[in-house]
Amino acid sequence: MPCQKDQELKKHVEYAKQFTKEGKVATYIPELGKANPNDLSIAIHFPDGRCISAGDITKKFTLQSISKVVALAYVLMDRGFDYVFERVGMEPTGDPFNSIVRLETMDVAKPLNPMINAGALVVTHMIDGETVEERLQKLLTFTRELAGNEQIDFNPSVAASEFETANLNRALCYFLKQHQIITEDVETLIDLYTKQCAIEMNCLDLARIGLVFAMNGVDPETGKQIMPDGVARICKTFMVTCGMYNASGEFAIKIGIPAKSGVSGGIMGAVPGRLGIGIFGPALDEKGNSVAGMKLLEHLSKSYQLSMF
Ligand code: GLN
Repeated sequence: MPCQKDQELKKHVEYAKQFTKEGKVATYIPELGKANPNDLSIAIHFPDGRCISAGDITKKFTLQSISKVVALAYVLMDRGFDYVFERVGMEPTGDPFNSIVRLETMDVAKPLNPMINAGALVVTHMIDGETVEERLQKLLTFTRELAGNEQIDFNPSVAASEFETANLNRALCYFLKQHQIITEDVETLIDLYTKQCAIEMNCLDLARIGLVFAMNGVDPETGKQIMPDGVARICKTFMVTCGMYNASGEFAIKIGIPAKSGVSGGIMGAVPGRLGIGIFGPALDEKGNSVAGMKLLEHLSKSYQLSMF
């Protein structure tokens, strides 16, 4: 789909851009520390094929936690509702995304939801296949279909950078393995998970994926049902309850858009039945959400009545 630069959207971006200086780029994955904290761009896709944008939308970024939504949709389609939710819960935590504390204090060491790292690792564990390569290809194929872009791939430098430093995620995996929630080799799972998180795209691709979720799984161009309506609804519900980590409640009140963020500074939004949003703004707040991206969404939600509540 062609995407038009939009003057009105540009003004909203200019307003929100002043907040980039309140945040910092993530550095715990060293490769992400190279991002320019002043960047802010957005694309919005509409069901009729229109697309508008502002900022440098050719810049690519890795999905990081946004990949959790795509992986969840994939395993729900492949394994079914019961299989998935026997192994991961449906409740928000109110804890940071990489917290280990609930695994120990819950009766069963089952992660509370698939949007925190512990739950996402369990979801990635459910991606079936003989090798990491085969499992990653399944996820990439699905991601390419959602974005309508065959060129999408993962960024090997970002994946390697996270693989070298992902000791907290390894700790989560060992805990989960001790309780038989996962059964595979931890290094293999971390290899797949870090490659999944390093799937790379630009705002246009991300907005297109947001639109597919907004349209309950229907491809806006072909009309094809890419994922069942029920799967898209589950994913959107998780985006509302847990998509912005432990800022999800405030985000729902102030903005009211199902959304998922990642520590690279991406935010995917899906306004039900109306539009898909892709934002890139790598300066993050202390909870790991794009500072300017959130301000931009708040501003847009108020200006165009985008809240679903
Ligand atoms: N790959 C990152 C991690 O596991 C994703 C976290 C995030 O985007 N919040 O730490």
